[in-house]
Amino acid sequence: MPQRFVLLGPPASGKGTQGRRLAEDLGLAYLSTGALLRSAVEEKSELGRKAEPILARGEYLPDELMNPLLGEWLARHSGGWVLDGYPRSVDQVDFLANWLEEKGQQLSAAILLEVPFDELLVRLSNRLECPECRWSGRRQDLNGAGRCPECGGVVAPRADDTPANFRSRFAEYEEHTLPVVARYEREGLLRRFDATHSPDEVAKRFLELVSQLKAHGQAA
Ligand SMILES: [Zn+2]
Repeated sequence: MPQRFVLLGPPASGKGTQGRRLAEDLGLAYLSTGALLRSAVEEKSELGRKAEPILARGEYLPDELMNPLLGEWLARHSGGWVLDGYPRSVDQVDFLANWLEEKGQQLSAAILLEVPFDELLVRLSNRLECPECRWSGRRQDLNGAGRCPECGGVVAPRADDTPANFRSRFAEYEEHTLPVVARYEREGLLRRFDATHSPDEVAKRFLELVSQLKAHGQAA
């Protein structure tokens, strides 16, 4: 069975960096709903126009906009995957569970990246993104050139990375995603993961965790 993971964690906990690396290491498809939505906004698609004012307020997209978008993506990726930014509400957990059941597929684990609030604020001020290829990372990953290490594009702070926006997203996280965490915990799918180390160290431990899941047959 292909491995399928949901990544959970507060904003700036490293879900993007770690999700991408994990997907690459394991040969899985990777979905960042944040990047997907920001692209939709830039392309001014119908969804993008609806999403823009909501995202600008630091709020999550309502399920009636988000679920069809996810369904579309899942339909195009029948192998294993890593989801970053979904599910963000208990209703979205249900949508995903129903989808998987209909297709005879299974979730391997929901992995919660844990980082203390104060460290999240520090990380936020260091976070950059490439508008060309959607690389995201830290200032110190740039080799001093201010260029994307993947494609050479000019990187910039993410437009939604202001402190006010962060507080709003963190409040949304506590309100909507903590119940998702509780739900996966009850279902025995949750794995807690200490994500306070350097990105390289976190990536290494992350891969170890996933290998253990596999060894125990939980991700078979
Ligand atoms: Zn790039």
